[in-house]
Amino acid sequence: MTSQSLHVLVVAALAARALGAQSLAMDSSQAWKHGAVCYEIFVRSFYDSDGDGIGDFNGLTQKLDYVKDLGVKCVWLMPIMASPSYHGYDATDYYRVEPDYGTNADFKRLVAAAHARGLRVFIDMVLNHASSEHPYFLEATRDTASPHRSWFRFSKTKPDVKGPWGQEVWHKSPVRDEYYYGIFWSGMPDLNYETPAVREEANKVARFWIDQMGVDGFRLDAVPYLVEEGNALAGTRRTHDVLRAYAAALKRMAPGVFTVGEVWDSVGAMLPYYPDQLDAYFAFELSDAIMNAVRSGSGTHVLDGYMRLQRTHPPTRWSPFLRNHDQTRTMTELRGDTDKAKLAATLLLTLPGLPFVYYGEEIGMTGDKPDERLRTPMHWTRANHAGFTRGTPWEALQPDSMTANVAAQTADTASLLNHYRRLIRLRAQNSAIASGELVPLAAHDTSVVAYLRRDTRRAVLVVANLGASAVSNLGLTSDDAAAQRIIARVALPPIAPRRAYILPLRP
Ligand code: CA
Repeated sequence: MTSQSLHVLVVAALAARALGAQSLAMDSSQAWKHGAVCYEIFVRSFYDSDGDGIGDFNGLTQKLDYVKDLGVKCVWLMPIMASPSYHGYDATDYYRVEPDYGTNADFKRLVAAAHARGLRVFIDMVLNHASSEHPYFLEATRDTASPHRSWFRFSKTKPDVKGPWGQEVWHKSPVRDEYYYGIFWSGMPDLNYETPAVREEANKVARFWIDQMGVDGFRLDAVPYLVEEGNALAGTRRTHDVLRAYAAALKRMAPGVFTVGEVWDSVGAMLPYYPDQLDAYFAFELSDAIMNAVRSGSGTHVLDGYMRLQRTHPPTRWSPFLRNHDQTRTMTELRGDTDKAKLAATLLLTLPGLPFVYYGEEIGMTGDKPDERLRTPMHWTRANHAGFTRGTPWEALQPDSMTANVAAQTADTASLLNHYRRLIRLRAQNSAIASGELVPLAAHDTSVVAYLRRDTRRAVLVVANLGASAVSNLGLTSDDAAAQRIIARVALPPIAPRRAYILPLRP
C-alpha cells in the first residue's frame, strides 16, 4: 500500500467515525464557524451563464452544488458592486451590483440558492475608498460647495508625504489646482471617515446589504488605512475607533453578521485590531509560514504564529489561507509540485483557525502577476475554454486548463481536488481538528512538522514530512505530559517524502 492510499484511507475512516459529533454549546449564530472552511470567489472568473465571456451571478448559482460539494460552509465574493474596473475594488454605486454580473434580483436569487444549500454569503466591502468616477467624488471635485466635499480629502498644496510602499498618495485634481488623497491609486480616492455623514453612510450601506440583499457578512478591504492622522496613514487610533463603532453598529443590525478584515501584515501587527473591532482578520503570516515550510522542506517555524494567536484569541477569530487574489498562486509558487500542494492543503486544513480557500486552488490552478493572471477563469471541463464560457473569455485561461480542471480531478481519487474535499469534510466532522487545541510536537528531524489537535473527546496526530527523503524511526516528544503519553503509544510507519499522516488517537 502506498503512503498516499494509506493517507486517503485514514482520512476516510476518521471522517466516518466522527460523523454526528457536533454539539458544542455555542450561540447558534456562531455555531457555523465550528469546523468551517470558506471559499473565496471572483464572480467574473467563476462561470459565465450567458456567453458574454464574463462570469456572472446566474453562472455562480449554477455552480453552487460544486461549492457545496467541496464541503465549505461559506463563500466570500470579491467585489460585486458597480465599478468601472474589472476587479471592482473601486465602486461607483454601493447599492447596485456590477451590471456585468447581473441585476440586484439575480444577486438575491444567488443568495437564496446559497442559503438553501446551507452556505453563508459574505461580500467584499470596500470602505476605505470609492471610485474616482463615483458621482459624489465627481461632484465634490467640480463644486467646492458640494455637500460631498467633506466626504473626501482635498488640499490646496501637495502635502509632503508618501505611502507605505513609497507611492504617491496625493493626486492632482483633474479640474482645478488642488490635490486629493487616495492611498492606493488616483482612481481610488479615500473616503474621509472623520466626516460623520461618511460613517453614517457606511452603516446605511451595510444595512442595505444585510436587510435588502440578504448577505451574512463582509470581508473588509484594507482596514488599516481608514483614517489618517497627520503623516500616520495606517493603523491609527481613529482607524480603530471607526472599526469599533462600525462593528458595533453591524452587531446591532444583525447579531450573527460576520466580519473578516484584511490586515496584510504580521501577527504582531494584527493584534491591535482585537478584541472589540471585527470578528476576524486574515492571518497573512500563517499563510506565508505554511508556504515557506512546504517550499523549503523545513518545518522548523511553521507553528510559531499559530501558537501566538492560539494564546491570545479563539481560532474562529483568525483566518489562515494559502494564497488569495493578490498573490502568486500556490501551484505556481510550488513549481507545479502536486505533492507539495497537497501538503500545504493538509497543513492549512488540519491547523486551527477559520481557513479560506481561494477558488481554483483546490484544482491547482497556476497564476502569477500581473493581477489579472491571478484571477483567471475557473477550469471546469476539458471543453473549449475549460467549460467556463461558450463565448470568448474576458481573460485568457491558464495553459494547463486541460489537466487542472474539475472534471478530470473529480474522476481521479488521488487528485488535489479530492484531497481538498476529504480534508474539508474531515475538518467539519472531527471536533479536535475543528476547534481543538494545537499542541506542537518536537520531531528529531527538521523536515518534519508534527502536532496534535485535541479536545476532551478525541485527539488527532498530524505528521508531515516536508522533505525530499523518507523519514524512518521518527522520534516525537512533547513538554505536555498528556500529549507525551498519547504519542508514546504510537508506532509511526516510515513517512515517504512529501507525505503526511493524519492519525486518530485516543485522547
Ligand atoms: Ca456573463
